[in-house]
Amino acid sequence: MTSGKVKDKMLKLKAPNNRWISGSILVIAIGLTIAMTLPSNFAGSSDPVVVADASLEVSVANKDIGAADLPIVETPAAAKLGAPGTEEKIQKFKAQAADLAAKEVARIAAEKEKKAAERRALRAKYTVNPARARISVGYGRRGRIWDLGWHTGIDFNGNYGDSVFAARVGRVIFTGWRPAYGRTIEVRHLDGVVTRYAHLSRIRVVAGQEVDVGERIGNIGASGKAFGAHLHFETLVNGNYKNPGIWLWGND
Ligand SMILES: [Zn+2]
Repeated sequence: MTSGKVKDKMLKLKAPNNRWISGSILVIAIGLTIAMTLPSNFAGSSDPVVVADASLEVSVANKDIGAADLPIVETPAAAKLGAPGTEEKIQKFKAQAADLAAKEVARIAAEKEKKAAERRALRAKYTVNPARARISVGYGRRGRIWDLGWHTGIDFNGNYGDSVFAARVGRVIFTGWRPAYGRTIEVRHLDGVVTRYAHLSRIRVVAGQEVDVGERIGNIGASGKAFGAHLHFETLVNGNYKNPGIWLWGND
């Protein structure tokens, strides 16, 4: 039946004889010998990978075949592979490559950090309206309704529960109740100015927390001494009241 045909195919697929193997190795050995002999300054070659591979192949060829059959394998090139200093040169090359790669990684990281620092510096100067609302009472107005006889901050109109935002990048230094101010948040900014947000209905940050410019930190309310919901906003320098309008917008 079909077994005869299969047998024929198997016969055709039988392993090549020893002569074929010897011939193949001879061809490989000649090729290697030529490859190793061609560059006169082989020991100083800048391609150490070839050195390693060639060495391995030659040793295999020597092991499997008698030296008498393939005298061509025993060439001066094979001796050159173990020439003094070759391994050191390979190691030096690898070290140089690793050093270059490390330097490039460090350079890219430094460049990224520099750009991030520039962005932070720009952002640190950026100021927003802490209630995104209109002013209802300005700074310095006189009146007996205020404990000091004058208005120490700016009042922003707003509805109960509206969001209150950090006017600039900074760190929260106080949250809690202050007489007259009610629920209060105080934030110290990079220029040393402290902003105070008063009469809040809700405090959403804790002392020590860093806040971004425009980040929601609380909600408008009427806590403390307040007639209706609004945000009372102050700027203090070394504990002294300053016109928030100058700090916020560069004018009063
Ligand atoms: Zn006020």
